[in-house]
Amino acid sequence: VPHGAPAHTRAPVTTETVLEAKGLAKTYSRGGWFGARAVVKAVHDADFTLRRGETLGLVGESGSGKSTLARCVVDLVRPEAGHMLFHGQDLRPLSRADRKPFRKRIQMVFQDPYASLNPRRRVGDIIAEGPITHGEPRAQALDRARDLLRLVKLDPGAMDRFPHEFSGGQRQRIGIARALAMEPELLIADEPVSALDVSVQAQVLALLAEIRARLGLTMLFITHDLRVAAQVCDRIAVMQRGAIVEIGPTAEVFGNPQHSYTRALLDSIP
Ligand code: ADP
Ligand code: MG
Repeated sequence: VPHGAPAHTRAPVTTETVLEAKGLAKTYSRGGWFGARAVVKAVHDADFTLRRGETLGLVGESGSGKSTLARCVVDLVRPEAGHMLFHGQDLRPLSRADRKPFRKRIQMVFQDPYASLNPRRRVGDIIAEGPITHGEPRAQALDRARDLLRLVKLDPGAMDRFPHEFSGGQRQRIGIARALAMEPELLIADEPVSALDVSVQAQVLALLAEIRARLGLTMLFITHDLRVAAQVCDRIAVMQRGAIVEIGPTAEVFGNPQHSYTRALLDSIP
């Protein structure tokens, strides 16, 4: 497996800790037939650290809990146990209102570019919506949206068009622009290229690498595709049935896997 993005696309990795997750857990309970309830431990005992400027990859097969863990970090899901320290401050005991300023600094790019953009809103409004909700004047937010379109290499004319007028790859660029509009320091990308054709995947990955280096972003990059993980991640965390079973530098995890599940994943690459 090849590893490491070209040096010029890398942000300098520092020792400063942006996020530290300790013992995060999330259980879903699903109603079944005749009152039977199925309980799914989607994430348990999850520990990991994100250092400023690094990209941590979260890999593992479908259903292993990657999206749930990502959703805990962006506050779309409330973990029922553990600690989530953002620059040393534990966000979990805070009220929703007190978590709001932190939420702005952690943004997410979603997997499905067809489901994640509001079909009734113009692209400019989609990108500007978050900043406007957080109090930025509308005109200024729209100006920045136009600049962001340029950053993600879309024509400024896209501002007044609707999501359905764009291809999957273009929509994913719009989703990236929307996340960047909040000026996050931590970007979570949940399978950002899995829904795209292979040729388009490479373009979107290159864009993410460029933006990450330019803005000095810290990233949590989720993928079930180990080749993609090897290309873009500094470190890798391997998830199996809700737990992180192995974590380390990309070259070590892929070159000398310690856990049998990691070896099985690597062996399954055609
Ligand atoms: P991954 O992203 O690795 O595919 P998920 O976090 O989506 O994994 O899912 C982990 C487990 O939690 C799976 O068993 C899945 O069926 C379950 N799950 C995920 N979301 C929900 C939900 N909203 N309600 C109930 N179960 C869920
Ligand atoms: Mg997922």
